[in-house]
Amino acid sequence: MNILQPPLKIVQYPHPALRHEARPLTAIDDQKRHVAAAMLDLMYEQNGLGLAAPQVGLPFQMFVVNYTGDPAEKEFEGVYINPVILEKEGSVEGDEGCLSFPLLFRKVRRARIVRVQAYSLAGQLVELELSDLPARLWQHEVDHLHATLFIDKLGAIGQLAARSALREFEYEYKKAQRRGEIPLDVDIEKRLDELEGLA
Ligand SMILES: [Zn+2]
Repeated sequence: MNILQPPLKIVQYPHPALRHEARPLTAIDDQKRHVAAAMLDLMYEQNGLGLAAPQVGLPFQMFVVNYTGDPAEKEFEGVYINPVILEKEGSVEGDEGCLSFPLLFRKVRRARIVRVQAYSLAGQLVELELSDLPARLWQHEVDHLHATLFIDKLGAIGQLAARSALREFEYEYKKAQRRGEIPLDVDIEKRLDELEGLA
């Protein structure tokens, strides 16, 4: 199975890939490097700061970020594999969006400082201490790998305020499915199970 065929694209809520627990990668090969490059392209194309593999329909523990969102600023770019948050400190509320929820922005409370560990694309174990925006991005992306979405983190009022937007996403998704643009959920689940074997 070629993971890059059909070409990767960003899936939107409520696509089942977003609620499918991602598998740790067991090998970093050419195929995974191509996936990372394709994910970075998609992220920049959509002016995002981060993108997790489940958002392109792949149940792999991998995400890409650029803290500035500027493709020219390579020093702020990162590809992280099998990431773990080791420690969290402090708490801060901030605006958050997600490429799987276009135009939905809500306030989310997150730890202000995190100590994290992950493998780089070169297979090196890296440990970082991050604060503010990078810390928020990491928490958002690591959540994706565990099938958790930022809408799950909203308070009662935030959830109420997001409800009509979520219904609209659900409506559009079903419509696209009826038009045959998105496979049926059972078929998506079957492919996700198959893809897990390639992690
Ligand atoms: Zn997201």
